[in-house]
Amino acid sequence: MELLKQRILKDGKVIGDDILKVDSFLNHQIDPALLYEMALELKRLFGGEGVNKIFTIEASGIALACMAGYVFSCPLVFAKKSRSRNISDDVYSAEVESFTHGKVYDIIVAREFLRPEDRVLLIDDFLANGSAMNALIDIVHQAGAEVVGAGIVIEKAFQPGGERIRGQGIRVESLARIASMSEETGVVFCD
Ligand code: 5GP
Repeated sequence: MELLKQRILKDGKVIGDDILKVDSFLNHQIDPALLYEMALELKRLFGGEGVNKIFTIEASGIALACMAGYVFSCPLVFAKKSRSRNISDDVYSAEVESFTHGKVYDIIVAREFLRPEDRVLLIDDFLANGSAMNALIDIVHQAGAEVVGAGIVIEKAFQPGGERIRGQGIRVESLARIASMSEETGVVFCD
């Protein structure tokens, strides 16, 4: 998606050779107009698939998932990263290995919000090693629901997540795919 690529080139900051910071429009400060355009693009890509639920992981997937929920006219559900007291024990859970923090943690979702009849579009801000996406897929399968596909804002195609998820037969659509990056060269897109 050209608009997103231009924004990454303008405002993204490469840290080392595998972290991209996009805090000024996606991960800390958020540009609603850009996110709305991204949601419309996801609707263009997945609009014919009968999506009736959007599923993401807190925190940074929520903003786009919310826009997508609005555009698809369906609810969004986000997996929570820790068990809180106001959620029942009746939850699905899966393990995620955090790419940015290197820690392993559980995500949980109340069973009442994912049903066997759901056709689920997964959304996240980044696809790196695929652990977060794998955990979301695992939970959708636990619910007996169907994964329609995954809409990713930025796929770092030089990391194995894309292959891991596509290898399971899941349609992954990334709005920007990065072939390589470094502090010296900046970001190089796949196409
Ligand atoms: P994965 O589970 O695919 O290894 O990593 C995806 C998760 O890690 C995303 O939810 C995202 O929050 C975080 N992440 C992975 N790579 C990056 C990155 O380059 N920049 C930022 N800001 N987050 C990342």
